[in-house]
Amino acid sequence: MEYWHGAPCPNDTTGAEPMDTKTLPFTKSELKKIVEKYPTPFHIYDEAAIRKNAQKMKDAFSWMPGFKNYYAVKACPNPSIMKILKEEGFGADCSSLPELILAEKAGITGEEIMFTSNDTPADEFKEAKRLNAIINLDDILHIEILGSSAELPELICFRFNPGNARAGNVIIGHPEEAKYGLTKDQILKAYPLMKQKGVNRFGLHTMVASNELDPDYIVETARMLFELAIELKEKADIRIEFVNMGGGIGIPYKPEEKEMDLFYVSDEIKKIYNKMIVTAGLDPLNIVFECGRMVTGPYGYLVSTVRQVAEKYKSYAGLDSCMTNLMRPALYGAYHHITVPGKENLPLECTYDVAGSLCENNDKFAIDRKLPELETGDLVVIHDTGAHGHAMGFNYNGKLRSSEILLQKDGSTKLIRRAETMDDYFATLNF
Ligand SMILES: *Cc1c(COP(=O)(O)O)cnc(C)c1O
Repeated sequence: MEYWHGAPCPNDTTGAEPMDTKTLPFTKSELKKIVEKYPTPFHIYDEAAIRKNAQKMKDAFSWMPGFKNYYAVKACPNPSIMKILKEEGFGADCSSLPELILAEKAGITGEEIMFTSNDTPADEFKEAKRLNAIINLDDILHIEILGSSAELPELICFRFNPGNARAGNVIIGHPEEAKYGLTKDQILKAYPLMKQKGVNRFGLHTMVASNELDPDYIVETARMLFELAIELKEKADIRIEFVNMGGGIGIPYKPEEKEMDLFYVSDEIKKIYNKMIVTAGLDPLNIVFECGRMVTGPYGYLVSTVRQVAEKYKSYAGLDSCMTNLMRPALYGAYHHITVPGKENLPLECTYDVAGSLCENNDKFAIDRKLPELETGDLVVIHDTGAHGHAMGFNYNGKLRSSEILLQKDGSTKLIRRAETMDDYFATLNF
């Protein structure tokens, strides 16, 4: 067998990084019990941590009575998660008809729903109107579509694209290259037009960041929206009732990264609120967000089993999951931390590409990752999959989507979505 080992493990002689530094909400033996009940792969979500984090966000903005986070449903479109967040006072940010129905099924209705879509078909506006959701328009064209599909609602919001007035970030790109939102000129025309048509309540939205960890970037977004709210008041006598800061607050995927200090963000926003909004006589102006990633991202984990450890020109740990379960690494080259329960205290003396079984060579959860020595049957936990994880799943290569498990407050587990079956795979075929 020696012959086949191109780079037998331990193959990392630098060996300077002992031990794993990210923690899990379960021990190896607890996880083994869960896996006996629910076969890998699956995503598991930590309810207690999700609630605690939601409460922290509300605490940070407690000076603002109308504060609300509309959870971006696309991050983890599971009604069980949405219900938990509703209990914590969050609403839902929806961008499609099925997401609107998900919100309704989770008991979230009326102005607890923000409908932020783009390139939107008329029937989706109709459904948003039926639910009395807050409708956030992405384009001036939508004024007509909305008007033709339903009577205009009394409250309308527009998405603002600042263009080259703001620098973008890596995932979302530069605002002037973004397909979203109204330009400044369009904004200044759109609100008076809506007022003319009888709309009498207004919100103002933007989304210029994605996975941003710099708190000052978020503060600057508030400043930009406050300035525009003041300009709309002065130039068009439009009174904005809330600013929607969008989502985009990042999470520390890498062990050396730090989570954003929401209390700092809130304090800084409060300072400029007092300076700008109160001074302009526009208090109260509500501040709301549509964060998804920071709400559930760090509290979800993809649990897999090592199927094989193969030595080629490099060492490959092949899992029983693949990029159809988590496509962020393949899509963005994103880092997701990996922990091997039971081996947390072993030295990271092996270097692996951690791969799946898809017939695509970018089907890798990690490239050249230092890990403890792996063997067939080891459980492997991939961190930070609670947002844009299962949700981005797909069926390419005949792969079936995994189950989703809730690790409940009391430590018990609940299946909140079963794994897909072959019957599901064939259900849409006609032959
Ligand atoms: C994706 C998205 C969000 C959520 O973004 P996160 O990075 O998950 O916070 C919010 N609003 C809109 C319009 C989005 O497209």
